[in-house]
Amino acid sequence: MTVDDALARSTAGEHNHEALVVPGPGRVAFCRRCGQSLRPEQRGDRVRPVCVGCGAITFHNPAVGVAVVVRDDVGRVLLGRRSGSYGGQWCIPCGYVEWDEDVRLAATREFLEETGLVVELAEVVAVHSNFHNPDQHTVGIWFAGVVVGGELAAADDLDAVAFFEPHLPPDLAFPTDALVLAQLSARLGGQGYSGRSWARPDT
Ligand SMILES: [Zn+2]
Repeated sequence: MTVDDALARSTAGEHNHEALVVPGPGRVAFCRRCGQSLRPEQRGDRVRPVCVGCGAITFHNPAVGVAVVVRDDVGRVLLGRRSGSYGGQWCIPCGYVEWDEDVRLAATREFLEETGLVVELAEVVAVHSNFHNPDQHTVGIWFAGVVVGGELAAADDLDAVAFFEPHLPPDLAFPTDALVLAQLSARLGGQGYSGRSWARPDT
């Protein structure tokens, strides 16, 4: 997949903001402040859920997801096969940031839970908006990770882990993972590992 293809796929999701005023999975049906019903009202350039009782607007904001890109000594990227949602499809090991959790701690925690590996984080590889799930938009942050301990074994939301060339990934669950891998592959010349630092492709 080229970067352009991956970019098109990653941004081709649901952008129907008005759908958020209709109660459904992942959406708030009642006012968080007073518990009364919400109704859609035009506010500025958007329709937003507004409380029929106290008038408070319920804002829907994306959650934050974190993923860690770990590569082996020949440049392949560690991917995991999902066992729950998007079961059977692969992803860069990832998870959500908890409410009171530091974003980098969340990334190392999720990676340890899913792969058994302890990582230290390095650079931010990519930041993208994820629109593939209309019920839960997220902002994803992909960190580079260096393995400093642990033993590789799939766990938690994964039932298999393996290294793949970034230009030859298996069936991927998330379009932005495809974009990240395509961009990574493009930085490396499109033919896998070049021996250069992937985080600083111009040096
Ligand atoms: Zn209210």
